Amino acid sequence: MERILKINSAEDILPAYLNSPISRLLEYHNLDRPYETYNSAELLIGMCMDNRKHLHIPENFAYIIRSGGANLRYSEFRVSYAIAVGGVKAIALIGHNNCGMVNLMARRTQFIKGLVENAGWPKEEAEDHFYHFEPMHEIGNEVDFVASEAKNAFTIPEDSCRTYVL
Ligand SMILES: [Zn+2]
Repeated sequence: MERILKINSAEDILPAYLNSPISRLLEYHNLDRPYETYNSAELLIGMCMDNRKHLHIPENFAYIIRSGGANLRYSEFRVSYAIAVGGVKAIALIGHNNCGMVNLMARRTQFIKGLVENAGWPKEEAEDHFYHFEPMHEIGNEVDFVASEAKNAFTIPEDSCRTYVL
């Protein structure tokens, strides 16, 4: 199974997603579909907090939870809220290349030094903070992470978990 599909035209979207919130996300973001008016959200998007990333989607179209690496493991209540109160019918997890949550250990010195210099933390507390939270936030590999989270966290059949290039 191809793990990454480029979306350069509407024909690239898998038939299973046609006329769904997922296809509309891909069409808005990748294909410049004209914006429609939404009074309520269709979709929950989990995406990275990275400042380089910005979605081209209409207002009210989606709830968005942003966290490092599109990691929703510590956002259960917010996911439940979007489903229960927001009424969303689909969830899209969006990873990206060069994600800062890959190989966090390589940035530990910068992280600890930054907390000390930019936030005035004592060095030992900054180290403890890094080593405590790093295992929860390291995603390993961007593609593997979003694919496995989609399968595991949301109990979605494997053939429904496709990764698209946005
Ligand atoms: Zn990222």
